[in-house]
Amino acid sequence: MSEIPRFPLYDLHSHTRASDGLLTPSELVQRAVTHRVGVLAITDHDSVDGIAEAQQTVIDQQLPLKVVPGVEISTLWENHEIHIVGLQIDPQHPALQRLLAAQREFRQQRAERIAERLEKARIPDALAGARRLAGEGVITRGHFARYLIELGKADTMVQVFKQYLARGKTGYVPPLWCTIEEAVTAIHEAGGCAVLAHPGRYGLSTKWLKRLIAWFKAAGGDAMEVAQCQQAPHERTQHSLWAQEHDLAGSQGSDFHQPCPWIELGRKLWLPGGVQPVWERFPALAPR
Ligand code: AMP
Ligand code: MN
Ligand code: MN
Ligand code: MN
Repeated sequence: MSEIPRFPLYDLHSHTRASDGLLTPSELVQRAVTHRVGVLAITDHDSVDGIAEAQQTVIDQQLPLKVVPGVEISTLWENHEIHIVGLQIDPQHPALQRLLAAQREFRQQRAERIAERLEKARIPDALAGARRLAGEGVITRGHFARYLIELGKADTMVQVFKQYLARGKTGYVPPLWCTIEEAVTAIHEAGGCAVLAHPGRYGLSTKWLKRLIAWFKAAGGDAMEVAQCQQAPHERTQHSLWAQEHDLAGSQGSDFHQPCPWIELGRKLWLPGGVQPVWERFPALAPR
């Protein structure tokens, strides 16, 4: 499998401080340009609040970058938390706004319950700690993870999730997210295209993963992420084949949250031949 360079470089999955990213929208777009990204989708968890600042920075600084307004919606499917990315959405659309408001309301309630559970495990003030780290942004388990690291309870994000926040652990609260169909419908109503995010990261067996892809397609899904920067060998080829089998377009994204040695905006993002790039199926994604 050889790299086929395509220009411009698309990175269709990234986070800002509007959710659990560490950079401001303005810092994120500047970093994207440094890494030669030409089209960047901002896809915060259940929030569209980072998009306007990113777009304004591109205009003010005349950056050679197109910002795609996006979102990453948490859903529940067969007791698994599945993430659906919406690309080229109208951030102000009422149907989308309604769904995101409900998701954030649930996030707040879940955060309170996570903190209660941690309190019982003699970890104090977790709600205030996570809220402080989230700032004005949407509260996520990522903020609880950073707070626990601050307290010295673990050294890395992976470790802290494994010990405290993953399913079945002290700080885990079963989620009440919307369904895949509800997320896809809201994204479509807001004029966007719906993308199944990082299919390789749900810990599903091949049988269940194929079931998920078929379900997503039946729910009206448009594309799936085929390429990410950190990926097991052959996963990209496999995902490309499944996308083609289900007539889904292929997307690619770093899922960048913060500067770190392994994940970078635009890094190793290319699609195998055969799968239709999502920006060809949805020309609105292409640069002006
Ligand atoms: P939430 O949407 O509030 O459940 O938070 C999920 C977020 O936590 C994900 O988007 C990741 O950024 C982060 N996350 C989840 N699992 C892990 C993990 N094992 N290691 C590091 N970060 C994780
Ligand atoms: Mn995240
Ligand atoms: Mn995700
Ligand atoms: Mn993400």
